[in-house]
Amino acid sequence: MVQQWIAESRAEIDAARLLVLHAAWKIEREGAPAARQEISIIKFTVARTLQRVLDRAIQALGALGMTDDTPLAFWWAHERAGRIYDGADEVHISSVAKRILHRWSKGRGGGEA
Ligand SMILES: Cc1cc2nc3c(=O)[nH]c(=O)nc-3n(C[C@H](O)[C@H](O)[C@H](O)COP(=O)(O)OP(=O)(O)OC[C@H]3O[C@@H](n4cnc5c(N)ncnc54)[C@H](O)[C@@H]3O)c2cc1C
Repeated sequence: MVQQWIAESRAEIDAARLLVLHAAWKIEREGAPAARQEISIIKFTVARTLQRVLDRAIQALGALGMTDDTPLAFWWAHERAGRIYDGADEVHISSVAKRILHRWSKGRGGGEA
């Protein structure tokens, strides 16, 4: 079980990093306004990845994970705000979905904004 948590966390962190690099690449190439969708995607994806990875790490350590003997409990409480500051997850998710649906309604579907 712990091996599964380690592997899943590694995969999710790597995926989140690639999303951030892709957004940075698009900002450099086309400017921030053109990368609004990618920026919204990383805001809710990275915050959720962080939460899931921390949750697994705490679970793996059991009660120790809830004490101040490791930084995990502090990070868990502190980083929860990542899904709220700079816009709540739901706001970014709604904005991404609206952009995608708008593109499809104009016959310009696909993943890119
Ligand atoms: C640690 C921290 C640091 C911050 N730093 C700054 C800062 O430096 N500068 C700054 O300007 N602000 C800052 N904020 C404020 C932050 O931007 C707001 O908290 C955030 O935009 C959410 O607004 P709200 O708290 O009023 O929640 P609300 O807007 O009341 O939202 C509450 C909940 O309602 C839901 N919701 C809201 N809107 C929608 C929607 N359109 N669709 C679906 N669901 C929705 C979401 O679930 C959301 O979590 C900070 C907040 C925190 C927690």
